[in-house]
Amino acid sequence: ALPRLPVFEAISRHDPNSIAVIHSNSGRQFRYGELLGDVCKVRNRLYETAGRDDLDGERIAFLVENSYDYVVTFLAILAAKSIAVPLSPAFPAPEVQYILNHSEAIVLLSSAKFASKAEEVLRTELDVQPAYLRMNKFEGQGAHENVTLDKSDPGSAGMMLYTSGTTNRPKGVLLPQSVMTAQAKSLLQAWEYSPSDHLLHVLPLHHIHGTINAIFTPLFSGSTIEFLFPFNADAVWRRLAAPFLTPDQTPNADLTQHQHRKITFLTAVPTIYARLLTTHKALPPDMQSATRTAISPANLRLAISGSAALPTPIKRAWSELSGGNVLLERFGMTEVGMALSCGLDVVDRVDGSVGWPLPGVEARLVDVDTHQLIEPGQERDADGRERVGEIQLRGPTIFTEYWRNPEATVKEFVESKDGRGQWFKTGDVAVRRAVDGAGRSVLPSQKDWARGDLYFILGRRSADIIKSGGEKVSALEVEREMLSLPQVAEVAVLAVPSGKWGQKVGAVVILDKERLPDGKWSPLEMRRALKGRLAGYKIPQVLRVVDHIPRNAMGKINKKTLVKEIFIDDF
Ligand code: ATP
Ligand code: MG
Repeated sequence: ALPRLPVFEAISRHDPNSIAVIHSNSGRQFRYGELLGDVCKVRNRLYETAGRDDLDGERIAFLVENSYDYVVTFLAILAAKSIAVPLSPAFPAPEVQYILNHSEAIVLLSSAKFASKAEEVLRTELDVQPAYLRMNKFEGQGAHENVTLDKSDPGSAGMMLYTSGTTNRPKGVLLPQSVMTAQAKSLLQAWEYSPSDHLLHVLPLHHIHGTINAIFTPLFSGSTIEFLFPFNADAVWRRLAAPFLTPDQTPNADLTQHQHRKITFLTAVPTIYARLLTTHKALPPDMQSATRTAISPANLRLAISGSAALPTPIKRAWSELSGGNVLLERFGMTEVGMALSCGLDVVDRVDGSVGWPLPGVEARLVDVDTHQLIEPGQERDADGRERVGEIQLRGPTIFTEYWRNPEATVKEFVESKDGRGQWFKTGDVAVRRAVDGAGRSVLPSQKDWARGDLYFILGRRSADIIKSGGEKVSALEVEREMLSLPQVAEVAVLAVPSGKWGQKVGAVVILDKERLPDGKWSPLEMRRALKGRLAGYKIPQVLRVVDHIPRNAMGKINKKTLVKEIFIDDF
């Protein structure tokens, strides 16, 4: 029997014959009916490995590829009432070591594929030596099994994810199963996952985006999750196109069964959409037209972008290519899951905005200068200037603690005056605007949660707000404008130390090779191009042209290191 976790209850109610997971490359399929039986088996293996069957609240780390095996392992750890700590196969050994030490994992589970990596780490000196479970085979006979759910409490089951480490050493974020469930319920309501949804999963599985949005939540709705990893633009285009190629188009001849099913749901980071857009141009003509059909709103029900700001040119280009499939942008973080999102109605996807607080999430803005709450209607100060505020959040979807870091936990929460719980300080700043062209604050959408003024992210308080000569400049806003210039392919806007201004606005740019084949663009030309688009003080004062901007797996830039590397003379 398994503990009565909401996710298990949901799984046991789905049609046992419906497909839970597909491996895109091999075409292997796994049904909902076999899932819980396999979860039981792996849970029992964990008990054997640990030498006891009370693992309540213990951390269990695992190194498993994006596959059915990952899903089974993840659920098996919850079934043991333990805390799942997913490790990335892309981590170098010292990173795995850091997380094992920090989480004090008592078991390390590895699939055969990553056994050598696991074994390499286990040979090193660790604070707590975990018991090792090498799983060569996760699944049973594919037979349906009736698994009973007992009355037992889910205990301290949960997940621990490490933040992306964009601003600092990754922090361990504890997400109890109740928080994970609340996050899933919120997304189910907002994005209306259904049993007919077929997700294409192209993300790493040690971040909230890939785990909660694209595994845990679809398991609640009985959707199908198709893993295609690592992300490869050509393979993604081929898979999207497959159901829409006519029989005389060669690739169709060897279509495996699952490829006849169209993809309805895609969630990714902006760099993935950018990559898809550039590679699309090189596809053969029949593929170009099949892929356009595949991503049209009638087929790809929902394409979501998040984890970093979505550049408007990418959003526009995607919409144009797909015949009106407007990317839905949302804002989330490891500590809170998804917090703000645009709506399902296309009119509710205003450029540059991340929408409204999701169902169950309470959000507020606290003025970064005055520390006053920005009440609805007070979005501008006495001089008519927009007030910039830190996003603070509360509700059942918010994490409970940074693992073994009570100082950080205390620092990031503030007591509320209304006695209804603490607010989490996200460290991200935003403005709220009433926008729909007609100045109304409520868009035509009927969704009860997608109402009121829209949130626009300005960036991280620590890295994206540049204080130059008494003015505050949002790096994200400058990046957005620069990306809409034809010369600019990629850009990072940074705060560069300045004796005169405190900080000055610096831009690191990758040029569009088609427009500027000689690779030259002078600061003067840049300033000319931005004149009239940005207020003078927001226009970068320094410019560096580069070939490459380093990003982590989620497409994020560590601006603290980048600025030091590139503007080395200014430090
Ligand atoms: P660390 O906390 O270790 O420095 P990180 O904050 O990048 O790393 P994550 O929790 O993965 O780790 O990322 C959350 C952050 O990603 C948010 O705080 C925000 O800055 C950024 N982010 C997420 N979605 C968006 C979005 N739609 N627009 C702009 N920024 C976003
Ligand atoms: Mg963070």
